[in-house]
Amino acid sequence: MRVVIVGGGLMGAAAAFFLARRGVAVTLLERGRVGHAATNASFGNIRRQGRYLPQMPLAHRSRALWGEAAGLLGEDVEFRATGHVRLAFDAEAMADMEAFARDAEPFGLSLELLGPNELRSRFPWAGPAAIGASLSPEDGSANPRLVAPAFARAAARLGAEVVEESEVMAIRKDDGGLAVETARGTVATDAVLNAAGAWGARLAEAVGEPVPLEACGPQMGVTEPLPHRILPVVGIWSRVKAEGVYFRQVERGNIVFGGGNREAVALDPGHATVDPANTLAQLPQLARLCPAIAKVQVIRTWSGCEGYTGDMLPVMGPSRTTPGLFHAFGFCGHGFQLGPGVGDVMAELIATGRTETPIEPFSIARFAAA
Ligand SMILES: Cc1cc2nc3c(=O)[nH]c(=O)nc-3n(C[C@H](O)[C@H](O)[C@H](O)COP(=O)(O)OP(=O)(O)OC[C@H]3O[C@@H](n4cnc5c(N)ncnc54)[C@H](O)[C@@H]3O)c2cc1C
Repeated sequence: MRVVIVGGGLMGAAAAFFLARRGVAVTLLERGRVGHAATNASFGNIRRQGRYLPQMPLAHRSRALWGEAAGLLGEDVEFRATGHVRLAFDAEAMADMEAFARDAEPFGLSLELLGPNELRSRFPWAGPAAIGASLSPEDGSANPRLVAPAFARAAARLGAEVVEESEVMAIRKDDGGLAVETARGTVATDAVLNAAGAWGARLAEAVGEPVPLEACGPQMGVTEPLPHRILPVVGIWSRVKAEGVYFRQVERGNIVFGGGNREAVALDPGHATVDPANTLAQLPQLARLCPAIAKVQVIRTWSGCEGYTGDMLPVMGPSRTTPGLFHAFGFCGHGFQLGPGVGDVMAELIATGRTETPIEPFSIARFAAA
């Protein structure tokens, strides 16, 4: 069996690795450089709390793979299970937090709920107005700049062909299989995985499967380095979008942050930008979570082009119109955590025709029904 993967972000690179591990002949075609788009821009959060509950089996499968990443890939992609803590500042947030903790338990995610005293004794940096928090102790983060190239290198060591600067122009049915047209020529294949990120809906639409997808850029920044004091990734329970910021302190000491508004991105050329007004709006919200960082200098901001579908869930599974074509795109700002699991599940599905992990809620068929 031969598989062509369109897109060398985390999803495509991980799928290439897991397919190659199954002994499948794989070609990964990336228009630019492996990992250069949404994956590279990611905050790097490996977070399960707050996630759509039917996605939890996939998130657990992925979390297990993050734990094995160094061994699987033969290099350290800086996965650290530092824990992920979300602070609550009012009764509504506490109620949302407690409801999620209760509902997540049967899905296999146990959160520790902390009252104000325990919060402050365990996390002395937490803002004084916080009245509680939830801790997901096994979650954490990894380095988004390392992970897709590491998967691609590991896939190549297993025999996958990784071709950069090779744009896919079209996918068409051909002689019982599929033909993938690239700027460098046509490749005949048995199966194709559309892992083209925010651009994935274009490929789907070209085969008669339109998906409502908006390209947006989360607004990110990083501060000067400070003494390393904060271990977990930090977020908030809040229904107010502007309050929805998050941060983590990397081992070198810098605070990486994001959240709040997103900016629209034009898919051509797909360069996402930061509006400085968003950065200014993030800073007081970050200081509310952790007053000690109120006066630090922001040294860089960035964004990345991510695909957000109409229902904020990704598209995963077989095409409805084109036998042999599979989709895994539109991860709506929460695909970094899922990446290794998505690669493994898509490899299993393509190689065996089924997957143990339920992905029906992400079927492209839901848009046809709508
Ligand atoms: C700023 C930002 C912060 C984020 N933070 C987090 C986070 O903390 N936690 C989390 O879980 N998720 C986060 N996300 C989301 C996560 O990063 C993405 O969901 C994930 O990286 C998507 O991976 P992907 O492989 O689908 O897409 P991408 O990484 O965008 O890769 C798609 C690739 O396809 C290529 N491509 C497109 N069209 C073609 C074509 N025709 N031919 C060949 N190649 C093509 C592109 O060049 C690109 O490299 C964040 C996203 C952004 C942008």
